[in-house]
Amino acid sequence: MDYQKILENIYSEVLPLRGEGEQADYIPALAQVNPDQFGISLRLMDGRGFELGDSAVRFSIQSISKVFALSIAVSLVGENLWERMGKEPSGSSFNSLFQLELEKGIPRNPFVNAGALVLADIMLSRLEDPEGFFIDFVRTLAGNPGIDYNRNVAESELSTAYLNAAIVNLLKYHRNIDNDIRDVLRLYTYMCSVEMSCAELSDAFVCYARSNEPFSHGNVRLTKSQVKRINSIMQTCGFYDEAGEFSFLVGLPGKSGVGGGIAAIYPSRYSIAVWSPRLNSRGNSIMGMKALELFTTETSESIF
Ligand code: GLU
Repeated sequence: MDYQKILENIYSEVLPLRGEGEQADYIPALAQVNPDQFGISLRLMDGRGFELGDSAVRFSIQSISKVFALSIAVSLVGENLWERMGKEPSGSSFNSLFQLELEKGIPRNPFVNAGALVLADIMLSRLEDPEGFFIDFVRTLAGNPGIDYNRNVAESELSTAYLNAAIVNLLKYHRNIDNDIRDVLRLYTYMCSVEMSCAELSDAFVCYARSNEPFSHGNVRLTKSQVKRINSIMQTCGFYDEAGEFSFLVGLPGKSGVGGGIAAIYPSRYSIAVWSPRLNSRGNSIMGMKALELFTTETSESIF
């Protein structure tokens, strides 16, 4: 299969969508990003890689970081994690307060903000230097020591994080947060601020695509079954309240972020990352989602 040619075809097919949608601007620093960028990067199990467009430009991974935080939390507390959160799709927005109130402080899943705030709480309780541990893990996964937090983006988000502050307060009220709420919110926000390119994300996610091998990267070790479960949560909960639509159109487990990135995998076959900042009303990249839909259609390589 000529993957480079396929990526080129996809690029020309998504170009007419350029200009549709808006980039996230509720985080002031993200409003400064040039919205008209598009990158895609593919990694195959045999080590071959294919890139196109702005695939080397780093962007804010935002909620894609939740996959890395979940991996760390699972490695730290194993099955006990599921006493503190569920594993069902939320069907409501990623920062919903009302669902958390109805469900008495138990987040629907690890990929809504409430769930990821609990993941941050676990890291704070178990790790001496959670911020250092997290970034070391991401650097090891992607094989690039240059990956880092963007403190500007993190502080910018913290300056307007009223809703996430409400979520962490509600969690604390329901005794689902052990640490100081400011520390939890800060760690969560810093994890979201990490910047990676599509190339680096596809390198990191190939580790999840290798789900038939034990996962051992830096200080994080997961069993094959734990990786399978992380991948299955990506499938059911990875795309906000559009996880069903993404599954319907694309048919791959993955995770999106409001920075406009999407990383997805086909276990034992490939990982793919795409980025374009303009989002649809659910918070997913318009060109990114379309590109992945075209990719699995043109290659006939989706998990279904
Ligand atoms: N830091 C963002 C927030 O909490 C992440 C949102 C996302 O990418 O889904 O609002």
